[in-house]
Amino acid sequence: MLVDLVIRGGTVVTVGNMGIADIGVSNGKIVQIGGDLQGRREIDVRGKYVFPGGIDVHVHLSSPRTPGPGVETWVDDFQSGSNAAIVGGITTLGNMTFQRQDETLRDALKRDLAAAERDAGIDYILHPVLTDPSAEALAQIPELASEGHTSLKIYLVRDNFDARVDDYTRAMQLAAQSGSLTLAHCEDGGLIRSVYRDLVARGMAAPRYWPDARPDYTESVATERAIGMTRATKAPIYVVHLSSAAALASCSRARAEGLPVYVETRPLYLYLTREVFDQPDSAKYVGAPPLREQKDLRALWNGLLSGAIQCVCSDHAPWTLRQKLDPALDVRTARQGVADLETLMPMLFSEGVRKGRISLSRFVELTSTNAAKLFGMYPQKGTIAVGSDADIIVWDRDAHRTIDGASMLSKAGYSVYDGWEVIGWPLYTISRGEVIFDNGKITAQRGRGQLVRRGKTMML
Ligand SMILES: [Zn+2]
Repeated sequence: MLVDLVIRGGTVVTVGNMGIADIGVSNGKIVQIGGDLQGRREIDVRGKYVFPGGIDVHVHLSSPRTPGPGVETWVDDFQSGSNAAIVGGITTLGNMTFQRQDETLRDALKRDLAAAERDAGIDYILHPVLTDPSAEALAQIPELASEGHTSLKIYLVRDNFDARVDDYTRAMQLAAQSGSLTLAHCEDGGLIRSVYRDLVARGMAAPRYWPDARPDYTESVATERAIGMTRATKAPIYVVHLSSAAALASCSRARAEGLPVYVETRPLYLYLTREVFDQPDSAKYVGAPPLREQKDLRALWNGLLSGAIQCVCSDHAPWTLRQKLDPALDVRTARQGVADLETLMPMLFSEGVRKGRISLSRFVELTSTNAAKLFGMYPQKGTIAVGSDADIIVWDRDAHRTIDGASMLSKAGYSVYDGWEVIGWPLYTISRGEVIFDNGKITAQRGRGQLVRRGKTMML
């Protein structure tokens, strides 16, 4: 068969399968695997791995606040964020789209969709973030789901959460009835505020006390509460950026009972512990929840191995070093988040697969397939199969690189992993059949990315 593109001779890895095969692509789709193929373009990838494109469903490429004088916000947009993703092997992004003051969920989606249509170099989904569970917002949840926005994000840490648990729970129930998945930031805001107050009174207001300000129980009680909301409604929940052994144990107990509770963790917790807060530039490691102890790190790696954790996503929330280390900030106001799009997959490969902690199949599951299923994109995305979008990464398992945030594509300009030696990087990134990263060069046109119109959540 004559096709647009043949990816020849690579070791194709999908969940539970691995083998050498040629892949034929036409009109953006995979049309043949194995057998006779001739391409208008062919790339020889013998000796390389071929993975489904990474799906990072947790990034921040738009601001929760209306821009204006004095408003500091994350520094990447859909263009720079796409470029960082492409170099890191990611072909689909999931952006948190915040309902700003006086905006409905629909207004917020419209605003971010316009920005993504203009700037995104790869495909994307947008998660409406519910910050005010008003009757109007609740009414929009099923409408938006029917238009292909089958997810909803809530923050248990928000000031208004405790007073409105019933409204948030209702939102989750409406989401579930429409086939949507609710993402939950699980930290207890009230407890954290009271811990802050005591720390400040004891003269421990500096950002280096960040881990003390948000101890693991403030995460695990909120995680239990989210699980309680699932018990009450049977609605599935996806716990974002889980950081502690205690919270993971809660989720595993719930899953053992058959409750639809899913867990995401992020790279920070797999590579770093709170000891880095003893360094003078500790504010650069601030993220919520904070870095934990060795025992937590070990529990998370065990969770990746056992399947207790379903997804690893970046929570890419980039600031410059100047913004992070601003001396005016304290433990209450420290800027949360780090850049991680470009490093997400290579570090998990290097530290996970190469060091024998997880298999190649699990790597694909954690970085692509599970997210595609949970977020209603499977099998269009998340696998290498005839009929799927040709979102494919060719991976050089032996490529060595030292992390250097200053030369990476996020506008953050630094990485919390600066100096780490990482082995295994993308050689080609292919999005809907188009080679958009080719031996170190990005060729994606700004704005070529498309919104993925999603179906219902597939329960794992
Ligand atoms: Zn986030």
